[in-house]
Amino acid sequence: MQFLDEWLVPTLETVVPKEAMTAIREAAEATPTSLWEQLVQRRILTDDQVLAAISTRFRLPLADLTMMEMKVRESVPEGVARKHNVLPLRITDSTLDAATANPFDIDAEKMLAFATGREVRLLLSSPTRIRERLEELYRGENLVSKLLGGLDTGADVQQIEDTQEDVGASADEASQKPIVRLVDMMLADGVTSRASDIHIEPIEGGVTVRYRIDGVLRQVMTVPRAAGIPLISRIKIMSGMDIADRLRPQDGRARIAINNDKVDLRVSTLPATYGEKVVIRILNQKSTILSLQTLGLFPEERAQVERLLAFKEGIILVTGPTGSGKTTTLYSALRMIQSEGVNIVTIEDPVEFRLGKHIVQVQINEKAGLTFSTALRSILRQDPDVVLVGEIRDGETAQIAVQASLTGHLVLSTLHTNDAPNSVTRLVDMGMQAYKIGAALRGVVAQRLMRRLCLSCRVLQKGPVPEPVRSYFPAERTLYEPKGCPDCTMTGYKGRFSIVEILTMSPELERLIGQGATVDMIATAARHNGMKSLFESGLRHVIEGDSSVDELLRVTDIPMEGRFGASGARPGALGIPSLYPTGVFPTIAQATAAPAGTPTPGAPPVDLTTAFELLDEGLPPAAGVEHTRGVSVLLVDDEDQLRRVMKDLLERDGYVVHEARDGIQALDQVDRVAPDIIVLDLNLPGLDGYAVLAQLRSRPTTQGIPVIVLTAKGDEDNEVRVFELGADDFLTKPFRARALSARLDAVLSRRRAG
Ligand SMILES: [Zn+2]
Repeated sequence: MQFLDEWLVPTLETVVPKEAMTAIREAAEATPTSLWEQLVQRRILTDDQVLAAISTRFRLPLADLTMMEMKVRESVPEGVARKHNVLPLRITDSTLDAATANPFDIDAEKMLAFATGREVRLLLSSPTRIRERLEELYRGENLVSKLLGGLDTGADVQQIEDTQEDVGASADEASQKPIVRLVDMMLADGVTSRASDIHIEPIEGGVTVRYRIDGVLRQVMTVPRAAGIPLISRIKIMSGMDIADRLRPQDGRARIAINNDKVDLRVSTLPATYGEKVVIRILNQKSTILSLQTLGLFPEERAQVERLLAFKEGIILVTGPTGSGKTTTLYSALRMIQSEGVNIVTIEDPVEFRLGKHIVQVQINEKAGLTFSTALRSILRQDPDVVLVGEIRDGETAQIAVQASLTGHLVLSTLHTNDAPNSVTRLVDMGMQAYKIGAALRGVVAQRLMRRLCLSCRVLQKGPVPEPVRSYFPAERTLYEPKGCPDCTMTGYKGRFSIVEILTMSPELERLIGQGATVDMIATAARHNGMKSLFESGLRHVIEGDSSVDELLRVTDIPMEGRFGASGARPGALGIPSLYPTGVFPTIAQATAAPAGTPTPGAPPVDLTTAFELLDEGLPPAAGVEHTRGVSVLLVDDEDQLRRVMKDLLERDGYVVHEARDGIQALDQVDRVAPDIIVLDLNLPGLDGYAVLAQLRSRPTTQGIPVIVLTAKGDEDNEVRVFELGADDFLTKPFRARALSARLDAVLSRRRAG
């Protein structure tokens, strides 16, 4: 079978290993495939390497996509550009410059020449980059042309409550008709595109607007600064903020109606480099049907949750990072419990949805002294049956919540932990007595949201399943991947569902927790008791065609042994369950700091060693500690505990470790110790990780040092940015000990090979 871009083969034959080429060709038998995209997807070559090869061989210039002028979209029809995947860049009276990944696409050239009546000059770029920029170019067009052309979109936006009536003279500009219209249109477009947030951010030379759809941010347009700044003011007016104050962060809210559907907006501003950044959270009452049925759980998962909710007393926790859908799950749970005669009270910050009927919702107001703990205390005096505590943030709240759950109340709450077993130790860290937790806890639900593939356009997965997780997928199984169509606003995904890890208490677990067992021991017992990991829950959805392998990898952590391709190797002798992410850093940190008197042989300090034995076990025997001995690593992170644990782990691996707490110290250390490799957190006080990376890459003596960047989960934009700045790899926090060692190893061996 020929590749879609067969013409590339002679050019790349010299750089791509023969076996790799054959493997891709074999995989391409069934469906037409692009060699270029396969090479990049399989990380055999980067886009830039392919571009360099073509450009050299055919003496074609490379396109600079940042030079794209938005006005070109008026001359080049969207259909033509998309069909041929060409990106128009600049147009003059006589010529059109366009980027293409296939300079031999005569049809494309002819169509462009025909459509524009200009001579076409083709420049090179990668197929993926072209697709991305096309999205921006023409999505922007839809919105802006609606605005400028005065086309009636049918959407009618009304502001229901003007929270502040008089805003003074400086509001003039922001009240001009076109600006009001622009804001209305943007909100209507955001809501109909199913966005959960709209980010409006001044950048150099303009203001960008991005939507978060199904958890992922995408740029939709750039507004000229002259319109963008009044646009921000208009939003501030709508949401009752002080528009004269641009230096302090503000919060506000507004309620609008779009085609008569009520939509609540929660708006916040933040002073940023080029002006105020605004984030609008869209709380669309209509799009949120709160019930356990709509969470997308498998029947047995739902049954487990329902069994937990049937308890009349005790505490049930939902855990996960911000944006993992905890609140929706809790609200759905309350809806299930909600019936005549049950007295339900919630304490929240903020109250996100009005639940109505028989549910009293209390809004925390810290300034007025109404904190989670004070509110909880006074509410308990009224003896409710069920209490929802929005979040357990401190020891005091934890104490009262657990106490309440031991005295005849069912308490539901959330914690910020990575998985179910860790929430137990988090409560211990907050000062709770272990035996009380053991007695009070009924269950923990850890959860994440995964994007659902758009059924109108999903396609069979073309490439193979990536090596680290291949063994988890049945070979004969049909898997799908996203494509993108108008139905899903070209994202390939539509909607999300929850994946869960449900820890249900058993007498054995209660005993273990009461004795102050480590996270690993709790996890093992929980798994014996039937707990499935988040990865397993997500894996099942992928196998059933609900989502893609990429999405699974984006949302969950790869099980440890998978990363090393030893699917059969179970570290069973150590009592660690195969799919459970044991080496999560906080786990080890907590284990080390666990109270004395832990009765079992898996005692805390030993755990650290265990993590290493596991690591070595998974690696091929030849690749021991030897090749890392003496390699110096600079760890840059302001979290002391995490840095210390990383240091411990790496030193055991034979590395020589240097540390820095902030950006300035990091650059100092680089000059002083000349490390072989740097692990750099992005979020640093003062000079941040981006700045450090930029500095390193701009200096000849440091530009070659490999850097692994630590980012926060869900921040895809960061990842792109750090690669652009020259990072060699990144790790998303929180991560496992094994992941860090493996990445260090991979980056270093790549360097050695290069
Ligand atoms: Zn679609």
